[in-house]
Amino acid sequence: MKKQNETPRGMTFRLKANLNCSSSLSGTESEIKVFVDACNTDLLKRGAPQGCGANILPQWQVSDENFEMEIDSDRFVRAHDALLRFNKEFSKVIGKHHIGIRGVELEDYKITLEWSDEDWFKNEQLAKLQKLPFVKSITQSKKEGGKMLLELDLDIDESALYKRIPDRLIRLLEDKRDAVRWKGKSEHWELLFESDKKPFHFDKDPTEEMLKRDWLRHAAGRGQYIYGPQITKIFRALEKILLDELCTPLGYNEMIFPKFVAWDVWKRSGHAKGIYPEAYYVCTPKTRDPEYWEDVMDYFKVTNEVPVDMIMGKIENVGGMCYAQCPPFWVFLQGKILPDEILPIMVYDRSGTSHRYESGGLHGIERLDEFHRVEILWMGTKQQVIDHAKLLQEQYRHIFNDILDIEWREAWVTPWFMAQEGKAGLAELKEAGTIDYEAVLPYSGKWLEFQNVSVNGDKYPTGFSVKLQSGEDLWSGCSGVGLERWAAVFLAQKGLDADKWPEKFRSIVGELPEVFRFL
Ligand code: ATP
Ligand code: ZN
Ligand code: MG
Repeated sequence: MKKQNETPRGMTFRLKANLNCSSSLSGTESEIKVFVDACNTDLLKRGAPQGCGANILPQWQVSDENFEMEIDSDRFVRAHDALLRFNKEFSKVIGKHHIGIRGVELEDYKITLEWSDEDWFKNEQLAKLQKLPFVKSITQSKKEGGKMLLELDLDIDESALYKRIPDRLIRLLEDKRDAVRWKGKSEHWELLFESDKKPFHFDKDPTEEMLKRDWLRHAAGRGQYIYGPQITKIFRALEKILLDELCTPLGYNEMIFPKFVAWDVWKRSGHAKGIYPEAYYVCTPKTRDPEYWEDVMDYFKVTNEVPVDMIMGKIENVGGMCYAQCPPFWVFLQGKILPDEILPIMVYDRSGTSHRYESGGLHGIERLDEFHRVEILWMGTKQQVIDHAKLLQEQYRHIFNDILDIEWREAWVTPWFMAQEGKAGLAELKEAGTIDYEAVLPYSGKWLEFQNVSVNGDKYPTGFSVKLQSGEDLWSGCSGVGLERWAAVFLAQKGLDADKWPEKFRSIVGELPEVFRFL
């Protein structure tokens, strides 16, 4: 599944650099000339096919403490990589004269990317691209079949090259192009399994009905509920079924994952690429000093209003609330090497809430801003992880058929970007990816995703630098079981009256407690 930096399209790079040295280079010109020639015949061609690679243009010059040059290249040895290679060896050459490189100025960096006619960016898209970090300008050439011309900001220093910023910019442009190309196309959806038709005993929205019966109440926050004793008992019964029928027999152990997620976790898990419109952000005070906060306290005491704007200036964002549950687990293994014989490992977490800003999509307990999930996580060799996903599928089928008796289906869902990467063949793609579990809601006729099973390949172990002793790739998978979604699906099909429920489920739930009455 790994997307390589390389792309089949043509690219050219031209970089102007000035190496500022610790003392005058005069007298070393002939030695430098020999070195530059060696670069052009060998150093800057290494790893590239015959006739490809980077070149230092002949008009390089030495003036006092400066060495100025222009590097021209193709995609095989990108000019910025060539510069890094050059610097390393150049330091050795001038080091013999007790001279070092003091600083590297990048004076000009132009990149052209071949682009096809069908992939034109609209004007407003091009306008937005001008604001990308490190970009001086991005234009598209009408003459040359839509070629993209990138000019990088002159302020980028050498450290930006070590961080591979030019490569990331190119990759980002390609991703944006792909997004345009796939826009409007829905994700790939393929039916894998469909249950028998089942008797429905209800045709209403279960949240509405539960509100009428005081089983739950909307809380003070958006998309947040307080669950009363009856629905809580149903949630716990669903959780017990999951643990007794799936986690325990398959050898799972419980862990407790953090529910505040620091940015470093989301940087490594990849969520930092796109989580922003859905995150619940977490902030800490800039200081604990009560004096610093006195004006806020006084404002509230006088107005009885919380001065949110004043608070914003006194806090600092440090991350967000749990979004996908498993990412913060991986810090437990970060940087470690595991012996192969302890695999596969299966753990789960049910220790807290998940939070997502669902905006206008909120709907009853089906789509919440605060919800409850059991996250199941397994890891092993590639084969172990794929085999375990099959076991999970079997156990889930047993739960939905034999205990909950619901009408449901399994579908292979592939986000467009993965579908594209896997163009070669769906069979190969199916090694990693996601199965969604969906059930029909009789009151609306719509299908609702109530859980998923994902094989994540080596994404997490790579992101968190976890390795196997044998050197084989470590793979992992996860499955998020939404308790509210399980309940929503079951109650929508079977109703709130226990006498209509399948016998097995009724006996697991037991009597529903009647605790509150309201006058
Ligand atoms: P959807 O397409 O419905 O938004 P998703 O693809 O965002 O779902 P995942 O990221 O796959 O959901 O999350 C895994 C599971 O977490 C879902 O199958 C569901 O059970 C639960 N879940 C996700 N978002 C919510 C929500 N807003 N309210 C309740 N449960 C949720
Ligand atoms: Zn997960
Ligand atoms: Mg969602």
